[in-house]
Amino acid sequence: MMKITFLGTGTSQGVPLIGCSCEACRSLDFRDKRLRTSILVETEDASIVVDAGPDFRQQMLRQNQTRLDALLITHEHKDHVAGLDDVRAFNFLQEKSMPVYALPRVLNQLKVEFAYAFAEKKYPGVPKIELLPMEGGQTVFFGKLEVKAIHVMHARLPILGYRFGNFSYITDANHLDATAMEAIKGSEVLVLNALQKEEHISHFTLDQAVEVAKASGVPKVYFIHMSHRMGRHSLIQKELPEGVHLAWDGLQVKI
Ligand SMILES: [Zn+2]
Ligand SMILES: [Zn+2]
Ligand SMILES: [Zn+2]
Repeated sequence: MMKITFLGTGTSQGVPLIGCSCEACRSLDFRDKRLRTSILVETEDASIVVDAGPDFRQQMLRQNQTRLDALLITHEHKDHVAGLDDVRAFNFLQEKSMPVYALPRVLNQLKVEFAYAFAEKKYPGVPKIELLPMEGGQTVFFGKLEVKAIHVMHARLPILGYRFGNFSYITDANHLDATAMEAIKGSEVLVLNALQKEEHISHFTLDQAVEVAKASGVPKVYFIHMSHRMGRHSLIQKELPEGVHLAWDGLQVKI
């Protein structure tokens, strides 16, 4: 069995936005409170988190998480990596460094942005991070859980989605090629990013995400990485076809 927990379902600024008084930002519905996008996948063998954005610490606290075997990073944008320093908690708890999987380009960027963690002479207590290169199509096992990286496009930036057994997770994409569509085929559950209704240069819109959801043939699809411009959860959910849902922070799905 696999348990999936949506740790965050918001776009880079989260929802509500600082200083915004739009309907979604003023909403009292807990489903309209979106931390930065991240997900926790747990099996008997492994606890894996995808991306460690600025809300990583809060997300781990909210989950009472005491175990983390690896971090899989989709890409280097700050809303996906800014919280990396807080893997220190798991370094102390587990008395080992944290395996971090990402594209080689992304690993290089982490070395720049968290230079103190990779310095020759480190000050005490810096995060211990083991950088592990991953490319689209490559597979890695965590116990019996097979994870396959999926190459997708985020405007002109190649980034990674991940398939865990029959669960596929794609964030920040605006194009999936035939290989990516093939890679998610046969999944029981698919997670896709859907930013807002209006066109965007680097993210699927709501309509585009619905189209990909339909084309995938996956029976259960959840949308993530939503902007406040998407509007209120309760209103948008009503517009979606059967089997397609807006995810919300704290939602759990079992496969
Ligand atoms: Zn993002
Ligand atoms: Zn707003
Ligand atoms: Zn991004």
